[in-house]
Amino acid sequence: MAQPISVTVVGGGLAGLTAAIACAERGAVVTVHEAHSALGGRAKSSPAPYVANDGTHAFYQGEPWRWLVARDLTGTVERLGIRQLAGVRMRHRGQLRRLPPRALTAMVCFGRRRQAPVDRSFREWASVEFGDQAFAAAAGLLGPALYDADPGRLSAAFAFERLLRVTTPSYPPATRYPPGGWGAVVSQMAAHARGLGVVVETNSRITALPEDGPVIVATSLPAARNLLDDNSLQWESGNAALLDIGVHQHRSDPFAVFDLDEGGFVERFTSQDPSLAPALHSLIQGEIPIRPDETKASGIARLEALFDVSFPDWRGRVTWRRQQNAQHRTGALDLPGTTWRDRPKISRGDHRYLIGDMVAAPGLLAEVSINSALIASAAATHPRPDRSTSHRTT
Ligand SMILES: Cc1cc2nc3c(=O)[nH]c(=O)nc-3n(C[C@H](O)[C@H](O)[C@H](O)COP(=O)(O)OP(=O)(O)OC[C@H]3O[C@@H](n4cnc5c(N)ncnc54)[C@H](O)[C@@H]3O)c2cc1C
Repeated sequence: MAQPISVTVVGGGLAGLTAAIACAERGAVVTVHEAHSALGGRAKSSPAPYVANDGTHAFYQGEPWRWLVARDLTGTVERLGIRQLAGVRMRHRGQLRRLPPRALTAMVCFGRRRQAPVDRSFREWASVEFGDQAFAAAAGLLGPALYDADPGRLSAAFAFERLLRVTTPSYPPATRYPPGGWGAVVSQMAAHARGLGVVVETNSRITALPEDGPVIVATSLPAARNLLDDNSLQWESGNAALLDIGVHQHRSDPFAVFDLDEGGFVERFTSQDPSLAPALHSLIQGEIPIRPDETKASGIARLEALFDVSFPDWRGRVTWRRQQNAQHRTGALDLPGTTWRDRPKISRGDHRYLIGDMVAAPGLLAEVSINSALIASAAATHPRPDRSTSHRTT
């Protein structure tokens, strides 16, 4: 009987855990090495009583989400309903409004079939196709999907596809939030992996890749550069200021505010999942893209100004607060002339694979991590050609 393939996975975030589960399901013997004491990478959540997601916040309905649901890894998800939709606001020209500007509505409703070119910038293409006002509002709306202060510089095909994803007309909306935050999903993934026989080693930082067996590198791109000794592993990503607060709840607080002026976004996560904060408190998470040459402090100040417009008196109601900066940690951005296919390749030769949110796989943000993990797992567990046979045929 053939020996099972032994796979080493370096990194225990969403990508590494997905790869571990997928390889184990295909009969491989799997060991995951995670440098930190806790699994999850950017998909961790802060400890109770305010359970704020560090990175991953929401998924959209699609294959990666279905893969998690099929394994019962997300818990029973509360879908957004009328209450949340009625609580959505937009900041446009300094004012909080209920409805998007007409030019933006026309763009995302009637322009959905337009083919955005890969090799032109979103600014150049969208301004001509839909007008300057529609482009400017769309660029703001893209903030929470791109974490970039200037989406107009990106490939039109890339930015427009993401715009259509986040504005998909459906009820209930296509956004998915696992109850208990993404930390809960990570715990379920780890338990599921262990149940399949995966060995999970935490506090296990790998400094040199093992020579034998398939190895799946599921780290950030900078860490992968060192491990794979390849300086060409580079790609564009975003830069954003983040502010999370716990507050005494207030009846008139909106559910979410899209900042069409500056690309910011704030969301009251306890609206759909009250377990994320103590009773009568709200958890609100906000972000705003940092401009080139802007300081983090200035980004936070602009984000606080968005909170001021969105949640009256929030400063006097704060019971918990944390602020961070996410630089080059928010997923891949494709510049004009490039698509996801041009990003660092998954297969690195010698049974080594690179996965994560910055590699050549389709999807939005963390979907790329899951999609790339599934592609690498299928390749890594494919029976290897018999060396003696391949010698004879060459
Ligand atoms: C602010 C913010 C908001 C986001 N919002 C969303 C969102 O709403 N929706 C969405 O889909 N995505 C979102 N993302 C993106 C999402 O968080 C990431 O795409 C996803 O979590 C990446 O998972 P990963 O496993 O590829 O990488 P990581 O989570 O970075 O995991 C890599 C792991 O490798 C480990 N590691 C590194 N080096 C070594 C080593 N040498 N040895 C062993 N282990 C090592 C690290 O400790 C880490 O645990 C957001 C990200 C940020 C920062």
